[in-house]
Amino acid sequence: MISAYAPPIYHDETIYSYVARLHMYRAETNHRVSAQRWFGKSPVNIDQRLPFGIQHLAESTGYLTNQLLYNHTFFPLFSGFVSRPDLLKQTMLSSSGYNLANVSAVAQAAMKQLGGSWYCPECIEQDRHTFGLAFWHLSHQMHGVISCPVHAINLRYLNTSSRKFYLPPQLDNTPRTIASKHAVRLTDLILRYSHDYQFFSYDCREDYWGGPVELVRLKKLLKGQSVDMTLLLPQANEISVSIFGFKLLTKSVVFNILHKSNYNCHPLKYIFLCYVLDQMRDKERSVQMSTKEETDKLLVDRERCIKLLNKRTYSLREISRRLKRSVNFVKSIANQIGIVFQKRTQFITSDVEAKILQSAHVGLHRKIIAEREGVSVGSVEILIQSVPGLSEKRKSIRMDKRRLSARESIFKAISAQSGITRKELKNLHYADYTWLYKHDNEWLYQILPPAKNYTKK
Ligand SMILES: [Zn+2]
Repeated sequence: MISAYAPPIYHDETIYSYVARLHMYRAETNHRVSAQRWFGKSPVNIDQRLPFGIQHLAESTGYLTNQLLYNHTFFPLFSGFVSRPDLLKQTMLSSSGYNLANVSAVAQAAMKQLGGSWYCPECIEQDRHTFGLAFWHLSHQMHGVISCPVHAINLRYLNTSSRKFYLPPQLDNTPRTIASKHAVRLTDLILRYSHDYQFFSYDCREDYWGGPVELVRLKKLLKGQSVDMTLLLPQANEISVSIFGFKLLTKSVVFNILHKSNYNCHPLKYIFLCYVLDQMRDKERSVQMSTKEETDKLLVDRERCIKLLNKRTYSLREISRRLKRSVNFVKSIANQIGIVFQKRTQFITSDVEAKILQSAHVGLHRKIIAEREGVSVGSVEILIQSVPGLSEKRKSIRMDKRRLSARESIFKAISAQSGITRKELKNLHYADYTWLYKHDNEWLYQILPPAKNYTKK
């Protein structure tokens, strides 16, 4: 149960942002006092991605530690990349933060330039409209995310002091810049990975889940036992410089990721390598395919694919999963045999799927998502259902919004009319009153005027 005095943390909000709001709501001027109150220590350096002191924050706000850890930090993603996830968790829950840099590999030099705080000028406007103020989005903060997953414009960077708690600017009218294709796609990929770790849904994803090793195999980049770096490295550098302005990967990092199974690196490096590999043209695929074995296999898969397509009950993705072939494979066969999916639901590409899921993730209405991506509401629904926990998550966002508006209307009514009785409140604001009675009982009883004894005047 959320304590009566702590407002809810927003969906996709960082811990740092939440505390900045608490700091503001209490009209606290001293940042150290806030640090002590919410993190149990002062001063603290709270990172947007991997904050610590979560146990203390959870206790003082009434949240569950896991709820904060899994939904409002990048712990899930990093836990898949560090050698000791248990230690990372323990550190993030603790009030000392000691070891955080070591455990999470955030201290790596290249990542410093991608740290700090990021915001989207469009999101800021939207949030002010919806919530009354702009806050820091978790999905904007991951190293390597430099464009907004919803608006596809470049994020803005702020070198916030991690010892003080500030919200992003509440207004930014400077011209927006459309993000580059690479930036948008890499953002998609990073957030898909993060999402997979958050919901433990790795097995249902696409090629990229096999990681760089699998992609190297698929792209036929092996030269004997090792990877052909003469192709790979220049490509990686070119993309990296175009997105970040510096080279993210070195030869030895690429080598280690590909050849040492126990090598731990920053998640961005791994995901970025996947991205680069995915961008590379399939070398010699036609030659490889001409061997008899592979041709036979291809024909068998093709037949199976046609059968599945003809049933018209499975999505492209589902067929691709069953065949262990890429979505493009299924798509091109569907094209060849002239299977046309419903006009609007036709061919949801992985890019579009990622966009739909991200919008679903931030609680956007199905209809709006469907319109925006040019697909049917039904297919948005199916996608939402396919991700464990997402539907529940959306429900809880809706609940939060409803809670906020109900609380507001009751609160206003009480402030506006002193001496208003419970009965009058209920009659005047029946819907909000009964909603709160049902779902937010604790808060309602804290704020209601004292019950009158039933002695008729
Ligand atoms: Zn945005």
